[in-house]
Amino acid sequence: MILTYKYRIKDRRARKVLRRHAWAVNQVWNYCVALQRDIEARYRAGALKRKWASCFDLYRLTAGTSRELGIHAGSINEVCRIFCEARAAHRRAPRFRASNGAKRSLGWVPFRAPDRQIGGNVITYLGKNYRFWIGGRALPEKTKGGAFVEDALGRWFVCFQVEVDEDRPSGNAAIGVDLGLKAMATCSDGARIETPKLYRRHERRLTIAQRAGNKRRAKAIHTKIKNCRKDFIHKATAALVRENALIAVGNVAPSKLAKTRMAKSVLDAGWSMFRSQLRYKCQQARVVYLDIDEKFTTQACSCCGAISDSSPKGMGALGIRAWECSECGANHDRDVNAARNILALALSAQRRGDESREATYGR
Ligand SMILES: [Zn+2]
Repeated sequence: MILTYKYRIKDRRARKVLRRHAWAVNQVWNYCVALQRDIEARYRAGALKRKWASCFDLYRLTAGTSRELGIHAGSINEVCRIFCEARAAHRRAPRFRASNGAKRSLGWVPFRAPDRQIGGNVITYLGKNYRFWIGGRALPEKTKGGAFVEDALGRWFVCFQVEVDEDRPSGNAAIGVDLGLKAMATCSDGARIETPKLYRRHERRLTIAQRAGNKRRAKAIHTKIKNCRKDFIHKATAALVRENALIAVGNVAPSKLAKTRMAKSVLDAGWSMFRSQLRYKCQQARVVYLDIDEKFTTQACSCCGAISDSSPKGMGALGIRAWECSECGANHDRDVNAARNILALALSAQRRGDESREATYGR
């Protein structure tokens, strides 16, 4: 599998050059977007038979612009290739990349492996050396392509893609995970992964900064929240992967978002990061990872399988933390019960031999 190694660039003066490169990248990207929209319009009008220009078409159309734009021809090809990937993933033209103004896209300059040299902590691109902080994570000998990327605070990083061997799992348990609001995740064995209190503190600070109209400070706090969430989720997912051979995660029902004052984007970001980190770590450790449809997992009893009258249902039941099944009399913690149902669905889906995403309770 492929992992990304990311390092901060040391030289503050590099910023100016990289911003200029990022502008050039945006020109190539926007050319692809405009072309795509034009082709789609003509396709709808019946003037063209094909809806998409192929990646190869884009290579040909952008060929020879390297000198004028001041970036490597390999980078231009990379932009076209990644554009095609994004287009295929969303099944439509991606958005334009703005180089200026409030909505400007954060800088991004992709490169291919043959177009750069690496020596120790220095990467050479288009004849210019960029030094970066190695920190605790040494760069492996063989890397594939990569990119220079900018964060919201205007700091630049260099990312390298590295092919790593997949290693073996050590634990052999199976676990179901219910993602939630109060605790970040609840496991079928009753363990809870609590959201760090730090979030709340940062959130208060963020609100104050936003009210005061201090954009730079708000941005800094946003970055801080992001980093601390990433760190916390890294540790939580690593522990899960270490101890288990099968991990099933419920997708999050939108109704969970209804009763919260936290921004939806914050929650969404946390959940999707949790899943994507878990997914790649599982893949790396050869642990089975399953996405499970969460429908009815809160309502069904994990002991008898019945959806009894007493189980939490609908919006009004979001506050119910614990309940007793009126069919079999089992006492349930709401989230642990959901996690157990998620696990049961995963195990039965696995027995059926399909990594089914449609495994739900029928009614
Ligand atoms: Zn029951």
